[in-house]
Amino acid sequence: MAAPVRPRAPLRAVVFDFDGTLAEPVLDFGLMRRELAALVRPFAPGASPAPQVPVLEWLQGLAAGLQAREPGAGPALLAAAHARIRELEVEAAGRTRLFPFTRELLAGLAARGVGTAVVTRNCARALATVFPDADHAVGAVLTRDDVARVKPDPQHLGAALAALDAAPGAALMVGDHPMDVEAGRRLGTWTAGVLTGAGGRAALLAAGADFVLGDCAGLPGVLALAGLLPRGGGRPCAPRPAVDSAARGA
Ligand SMILES: [Mg+2]
Repeated sequence: MAAPVRPRAPLRAVVFDFDGTLAEPVLDFGLMRRELAALVRPFAPGASPAPQVPVLEWLQGLAAGLQAREPGAGPALLAAAHARIRELEVEAAGRTRLFPFTRELLAGLAARGVGTAVVTRNCARALATVFPDADHAVGAVLTRDDVARVKPDPQHLGAALAALDAAPGAALMVGDHPMDVEAGRRLGTWTAGVLTGAGGRAALLAAGADFVLGDCAGLPGVLALAGLLPRGGGRPCAPRPAVDSAARGA
């Protein structure tokens, strides 16, 4: 593990990805790609998402091209695809558990005066299925349904930091996927990769992670060693309203 070297003030906020970071990585993205390829076949024969292309962005591009050729078809394709994605997400959520260390980790950071948030590309219903009391355990929860643009767009992470009243330079983004690291890098936070999900060490470091660790259970120790935890605790960061109601359902 490469230790953080940038001299910084103690963290005010840690923002976590969800699946593969705070919860088991159950959702089968290979299955989702195959199902979506079959679903779009009548609209776009031969179209299939490449493994490295996130499905939401792939669908957006496909729908835009379709809409240009056949007005009205783009939104119809998106609606059908998103309905199937949600079914797969909610079904997987029913088999997903938080990692054993998650609740203690979140409570420990709050006790040190560090705000916490979850940002996920998963849907709100799936997150609530796995973590029904998330609103009480962290200061902000921002799912795909809560923002207009999901990570790696930095707006997603930025909305979480705004809810926690934390500047990017005093925040850490933690996730198992290079997109989590990319979101943090684009916004200017510290970034940490964990090896409990989709991304391997090499991919996370290549994305620019400041450090990589086996799982989030080791995070408080690493942050303490790096001098990034507030000394002697601090004022607890209370949950604040995080969601722009106008953005819901975007
Ligand atoms: Mg993840």
